[in-house]
Amino acid sequence: MSTYADLSAAELDTLRAQLEEEYAGYKAKGLKLNMARGKPAAAQLDLSMPMLDILSSDADYKSADGTDCRNYGVVDGLPEAKEFMASMLDDEAENVIVFGNASLNIMYDAVARCWMFGTLGSTPWGRLDTVKWICPVPGYDRHFGVTEAFGIEMITVPMLADGPDMDEVERLVAEDESVKGIWCVPKYSNPGGVTYSDEVVERLANMECAADDFRIFWDNAYCVHHLYDDVADQDHLMDIGDACIEAGNPDRYFKFASTSKVTFPGAGIAAMAASPENVADIKKRMGVQTIGHDKLNQLRHVRFLRDAEGLARHMAKHAAIVRPKFELVCEKLEAGLAETGCGSWSNPRGGYFVSFDAPAGTAKRIVGLAKEAGVVMTGAGATYPYKNDPADSNIRIAPTLPPLEELEAAMDVFVCCVKLAAVEDLLEA
Ligand code: PMP
Repeated sequence: MSTYADLSAAELDTLRAQLEEEYAGYKAKGLKLNMARGKPAAAQLDLSMPMLDILSSDADYKSADGTDCRNYGVVDGLPEAKEFMASMLDDEAENVIVFGNASLNIMYDAVARCWMFGTLGSTPWGRLDTVKWICPVPGYDRHFGVTEAFGIEMITVPMLADGPDMDEVERLVAEDESVKGIWCVPKYSNPGGVTYSDEVVERLANMECAADDFRIFWDNAYCVHHLYDDVADQDHLMDIGDACIEAGNPDRYFKFASTSKVTFPGAGIAAMAASPENVADIKKRMGVQTIGHDKLNQLRHVRFLRDAEGLARHMAKHAAIVRPKFELVCEKLEAGLAETGCGSWSNPRGGYFVSFDAPAGTAKRIVGLAKEAGVVMTGAGATYPYKNDPADSNIRIAPTLPPLEELEAAMDVFVCCVKLAAVEDLLEA
């Protein structure tokens, strides 16, 4: 079959009529399906239910060092929780601070601290005329929401197959001291599923920055979220901490992770790792903010997941639920679109998303058509700062929440919408 771009106007007209009929059929079904946010399915949440019963007797409320976790105190996390989160953060327990229920607010607070107080004695960013930030695109909409909220000027850099375009990143940080940070989702990125190569990690650690207080915000949200159990089928990421120490820039990174998609989103534990100097600076500020986070939840998590091996076993159960959904999405895209030439997509080995690039200028139309037919997608443009995808092309597909049958129905609608929007676009051209 020829791609749509090769068809004559008459052939496209016929195709449009067929696709409109197919689309009307979906609309008539009154579907109510959602592929908008990266939420675990109920079956995944069920995996962690035993954790809620883990603290059932008086003795269970004490941490390994005898702390009564029902009471105030321990600002930076229980020793065993630091140990556990260190395994997710690829760091040493002493460099870890365990916070509360989720990592996004830690990232917000990290920006806010630099904004109000500076970092390691630097001028508070809020006192500067301009603060700029590097945003690899497509990227995570809530990251962009944080930097936008502070009035930080976001500069986009393309994500390539092995991480951000480092030629661009190096140029930007070298020439402009108002560039203070970069958002990174270094493993199974949101939405592209990209894992940064060793070369990219090393270049980030080594690059010459005009700003001494430049920080890499290393959001390793999907560090243990593999789709496949065999280590050979998993992505591997070089540790940014080691790379920065090696490069002589030990204070350059803030690492973040959480158990949001391990146990319960919004009711997990979240943590940060950084250099001893950064950790001391952060603790000084947060000691004013809080007497301590939820230690009972820290204890529940450690007792339930135990250690890196326990975590890997638990994540394999998630993968068994999630993997068929990702495979279904990719199969549907392949079967429905490969021959048409309408778009390209990622085939990730982990994380929570498939990134779809529609023919330029059609993403908004596709998401609108899908919505009208009862299928809610992430808004077109959401994967770019200011919700502005200049090519109007990228669409984030989040396959985890719907059960398989619903996902299958939703993908049929999506594929039809992509084809219809592509044909309309070609006819208008
Ligand atoms: N970072 C990334 C890259 C994410 O995709 C998400 C969830 N969609 C989060 C952070 C949010 O994590 P948390 O629940 O720990 O705030």
